[in-house]
Amino acid sequence: MKYTLPTLNYAYGALEPYIDAQTMEIHYTKHHQAYVDKLNAVLDKYPDLPSKSLNELLSGVDKFNMDEKDRITLRNNAGGHANHSFFWEIMSPIKEIDQKLSEEIVKTFGSVDNFKKIFSDAAASHFGSGWAWLVRNSSGTISVYSTANQDSPITRGDTPLIALDVWEHAYYLKYQNRRGDYISNWWNILKLV
Ligand code: MN
Repeated sequence: MKYTLPTLNYAYGALEPYIDAQTMEIHYTKHHQAYVDKLNAVLDKYPDLPSKSLNELLSGVDKFNMDEKDRITLRNNAGGHANHSFFWEIMSPIKEIDQKLSEEIVKTFGSVDNFKKIFSDAAASHFGSGWAWLVRNSSGTISVYSTANQDSPITRGDTPLIALDVWEHAYYLKYQNRRGDYISNWWNILKLV
């Protein structure tokens, strides 16, 4: 089985003016496609692994019997594929963060505004390429952190709930070095009440 790009259920310009159409198109057709292609290429070398689901690849990546260089390639590209697939989905114009999660956010962080501040700080202060996350831990509680490169919370045993890509390729065409503006504008896309 070969991994493929998931269908994007909205137009490249649908998130304008917060994320521009050109960034969306390059991000989806070039960057995400490259993670998919490299994931397929590394899996070709390990015939036993492709039968595993993407989640199984991510949660097991540190345990598989494989060359260490290939393990890094698998970690980066399975993560890249999973992270971007999730990111497109939560930014979809038809996706709403469900009421139950919104209530849990208020209960955990005090208010939606305080959650946004904590999440934005994690995204803004992350050094270099990576992601900011709201996740559900294995204990059932929710928390915010950032990960480097394309590392997935699934590898840590956590379930992604909200994600923000803070790689420069996600914002540089429109925002250049202004990561903070990209982050504050991005909240206009996420339908979190
Ligand atoms: Mn990206």
